[in-house]
Amino acid sequence: MRIYTHSKCIDHLVPEGHSERPDRLTHLLAHLEQTGIARELPYFEASPISKERALLVHKSKHMEELDRLVPEQGLVPADPDTWVSPESKIAAELAAGAVLDATNSIIRGEDKRAFCAVRPPGHHAEMTGMMGFCLLNSIAISAASALEHQSIKRVAILDFDVHHGNGTVDIFKDDPRVLVCSSYQDPLYPNRYFDLVKSNIINTPLVEGTHSQQFRSAISDSWLPAIESHQPDLIFISAGFDAHELDPLAQINLSKDDFTWITNEIVTLANAHCEGRIVSALEGGYHLEALAESAQCHIESLCE
Ligand SMILES: [Zn+2]
Repeated sequence: MRIYTHSKCIDHLVPEGHSERPDRLTHLLAHLEQTGIARELPYFEASPISKERALLVHKSKHMEELDRLVPEQGLVPADPDTWVSPESKIAAELAAGAVLDATNSIIRGEDKRAFCAVRPPGHHAEMTGMMGFCLLNSIAISAASALEHQSIKRVAILDFDVHHGNGTVDIFKDDPRVLVCSSYQDPLYPNRYFDLVKSNIINTPLVEGTHSQQFRSAISDSWLPAIESHQPDLIFISAGFDAHELDPLAQINLSKDDFTWITNEIVTLANAHCEGRIVSALEGGYHLEALAESAQCHIESLCE
């Protein structure tokens, strides 16, 4: 188990009062220091992703738009929620690069599991379209890249962020090699692809007020059999912690124990199907304490 991060992920700036702010990551990294996890696990500094890798999932128009938006100073909106500052492009390239470095090291057999402590998040970024605080779809780029390896025939992307992983679904909806499971509050942003019917897309809607037992039943009924039958060679996790009861952006009532539970379930499946190989990356989570404690639980479970 190893951690990938980069200090420049903190340099992606947003307007005052924006939820997806730099201190999400500084607080998480400080929490991992304070709890001692940072001393127990090896840390790796991410390298930036190449444009060629990003083009595996994003259209050239998307990449040109990102280039065009990056300001010399100040902030520019990509959409009403999604902002670009002078360092945003390199931060997004490092966030995606962290996931790709982790993926490559795991495919090479150097380790079994990795967690990428990065921002900006990625799962809302579609083939063409930055949205929902996301510029590049980090997990999708690595999943597409992994599938170029002969040993990786199928992958699963498991997204327990409270918002639907519309970007990941947009990218892989017609690729049966990729199973995408997404749990999300319904109705809630982004309200896209909620009704899509595809055998490789598992949509798991959660009503406002969903608590632990309902969440665990929904995941056990919809995700676990799908992963079992897909038999992935590598599992990716879009790890958002905004379904926590304290999160200000949603109304789902999970606790940190639920993140331990779901991670343990995924670890069990990974051990059964893909030699334990899991690459996880931070997506959402907007209550600083809840995010840090939930991510800690997630990381500790990945160490099992
Ligand atoms: Zn989210």
